[in-house]
Amino acid sequence: MKIHSIDTFPVAVPLTKPFKTALRTVTTAHSIFVKVTCDDGSVGYGEAPPTHVITGDSTGSVTYAIQEVIAPQLIGQDIRHREELFLKLKKAIVRNTSAKAAVDMAIHDLLGQLANMPLYQLLGGFRNEIETDFTVSVNVPAEMAEDAAGYVAGGFTVLKVKVGIGDIAEDIERIRAIRERVGQNVKIRLDANQGWKPKEAVQAIGKMEDAGLAIELIEQPVLADDVEGLRYVTAHTLTPIMADESVFSAKDALRVLQMGAADLINIKLMKSGGIQEAMKINALAEAFGVGCMVGSMIETKLGITAAAHFAASQPNITRFDFDAPLMLSKDIVAGGIEYDGTVIRFAEAPGLGLYQEGMELVEKGEGQ
Ligand code: MG
Repeated sequence: MKIHSIDTFPVAVPLTKPFKTALRTVTTAHSIFVKVTCDDGSVGYGEAPPTHVITGDSTGSVTYAIQEVIAPQLIGQDIRHREELFLKLKKAIVRNTSAKAAVDMAIHDLLGQLANMPLYQLLGGFRNEIETDFTVSVNVPAEMAEDAAGYVAGGFTVLKVKVGIGDIAEDIERIRAIRERVGQNVKIRLDANQGWKPKEAVQAIGKMEDAGLAIELIEQPVLADDVEGLRYVTAHTLTPIMADESVFSAKDALRVLQMGAADLINIKLMKSGGIQEAMKINALAEAFGVGCMVGSMIETKLGITAAAHFAASQPNITRFDFDAPLMLSKDIVAGGIEYDGTVIRFAEAPGLGLYQEGMELVEKGEGQ
């Protein structure tokens, strides 16, 4: 089962509502889909949403990396020798983690098809359904509380709120408004997306603790490369701190874990370069007694399907941040995971469970 060809095609889907974080505002999800075809005719799919502000990847760089650098090295390789294949993929080009992730997903899709098992089962099969949180867009407090109440009425029990954009007092007002509206039974997690300096973060989190806002966890309070600062925040607050942008690779994870710089890790395939490296990050975290969440960029249901299969497979992954497809104005992906309210279910079809005919229409630009 040798790789015969690797193709890419761009997709674009408008969001129903602009998505704003401390790093950027997004109105349309732009992504590159990759199709890996084997000599027996079987096809695997993957996705790379270029996220300049986090991974440094762009539409042009992802397309070039896959077509001109990765494809020539993988074509002709047998997917049954997967360690060799993943090693070639990792060494083909430094960084470019989104391009690698898309190809890694497609290979995992093919491995599932070869084994005739859904990917989550092939990887471990720990859960057969998972529940996602939902992100409340940043707005004036009353509007955020109203939105939050709507999501809770729709069944969501975990809300994620972006902070670190304006001043701390405004952040606290927003969270207070949401907490008062949704009550104590809803989990509220925050994501500062590197928006604070270490001492500022300790002050902000301390104020939230004093205000009794019952925050479940706070993602990436400080700059990605300031792991010492991250350790400082973790050491000086009671609220669990989660590393996100600070952890791309297993090596990054090891450093954060050895320093005790975070209580939790957010794994994303676009940072790790795919499922192969993500499994290693999770195994390291598990050895250190650190739980993991799996999250995503603003991507379509294709990338989330791969991430969800990985996330469901492992007992150490207990949190799931897969709301991105729910923010899109339409679902262009044929097959894959299914959303039933807040719950994500997996098809019993092998691999990622995509429909090839439907995906080929997307490739032709139809159905987009
Ligand atoms: Mg984050």
